[in-house]
Amino acid sequence: MQCLECGSAVANLDNSHLLRCCSLTLQEYAIRHHLPLDLLIDQELLNRTDNPEDYPRPKAYPSEQARAIYRGLKWGGLLQKEEAFTIVPGEIRRLDMLLWNLQWLSEYGFLFRQEYRYAEETHRVVAVNRLKVPAAYLALSADAHLSPVPPPDFLLSLAVLVAHIGELQAGYLFLQLPGRAAGETIMAEACRHGIEFRELDAADQSDGLLLRTLTRSDTQHLLALIKDDLMGIPCAMERFDRKTPEMTVSKELIFDAAHFITDHPAKCSNLHGGRYLLHVKVRDRIDPVTGCVVDYGYLKRVANRRVIDRFDHHNLNYATSELAWRSSTEMLCVFIWEQLIEYLPGLVELQLYETTQSWCNYSGPTLEAFQQSGSDSLLSHFVDGKLGASQLRDLIREKPPTLEIIAKSQP
Ligand SMILES: [Zn+2]
Repeated sequence: MQCLECGSAVANLDNSHLLRCCSLTLQEYAIRHHLPLDLLIDQELLNRTDNPEDYPRPKAYPSEQARAIYRGLKWGGLLQKEEAFTIVPGEIRRLDMLLWNLQWLSEYGFLFRQEYRYAEETHRVVAVNRLKVPAAYLALSADAHLSPVPPPDFLLSLAVLVAHIGELQAGYLFLQLPGRAAGETIMAEACRHGIEFRELDAADQSDGLLLRTLTRSDTQHLLALIKDDLMGIPCAMERFDRKTPEMTVSKELIFDAAHFITDHPAKCSNLHGGRYLLHVKVRDRIDPVTGCVVDYGYLKRVANRRVIDRFDHHNLNYATSELAWRSSTEMLCVFIWEQLIEYLPGLVELQLYETTQSWCNYSGPTLEAFQQSGSDSLLSHFVDGKLGASQLRDLIREKPPTLEIIAKSQP
């Protein structure tokens, strides 16, 4: 086999040749030369078992730096159990970030592995990059054994977390955490640094926690605080400061609903039903790490929870008080915008079809403007506390019976 990097003939094209010849791993080589891994891989490397005994013993007392990095990864759910091992998964696009972790996590006994698996369902060879350590090692260096030393640096742990799982949407930072406890620590510690987060009920798992910076200035403040740490982590900053092409992505959703229009002079005042078609459009730059503007799965999850579940197979007038008076497509668009903007700050347009011939397009306030102005008064007429405060109601109010006092005649 000829190596396409150095041109030399090799018996096996593997990491021991490639890392010496061009510093690429086999998976990177396959992608660069657009070759299927199946053709390159030596059968012996497939589904190889890993032996915990091959791992070096951990240090009894990992450094403060190592512990801060370990904690950041733990918060992000990146320390995962797999058989007798704990792994930190990596992405081939950010291999150097994984290796940056390794230089510190080696204190815990972690090693790098690029493993090749034959995927039964798809008949493909897939490669996974991860750091691995025998799970038993971590018990040895658990924080309980380290109680006399100071707690790890919060800002470094936060930088590690943000570098790995932070996503920027229209200037707001999103963190999808696997558990509530970590989220509460992060919110409390960040608050002490003057940064506020908001919890959004759209986590990707039932016990997970989705956090978003409250405002864009919280994002800027947070990134400024951890910038020096982020700059030290390979590939971390590009996600937050790199200019990439902007585009609009759109998700189409459908719901069936009935409605009527109060006080409508014609047949729309009758209860009638139809199939609504909604296009949710989000505009942002392409995230250089995911190659996407926004994850379609997230967009769909948010739209389902906030809109579809509420309206599908319902009478719109009885689904929410904001629409009880008039559930016109226009009012519905304003309502849907307010349901989504906190979750999708890159939202630029909603397109809602009531029939194939009748639809409306709406671009509402940005999240920043919405945070200042609150819900549109158009929706709030009937929920406004001042409703009914008019003096004119006296004209139609029944007078209470007056109590007649009859003076008792003197004896
Ligand atoms: Zn070579």
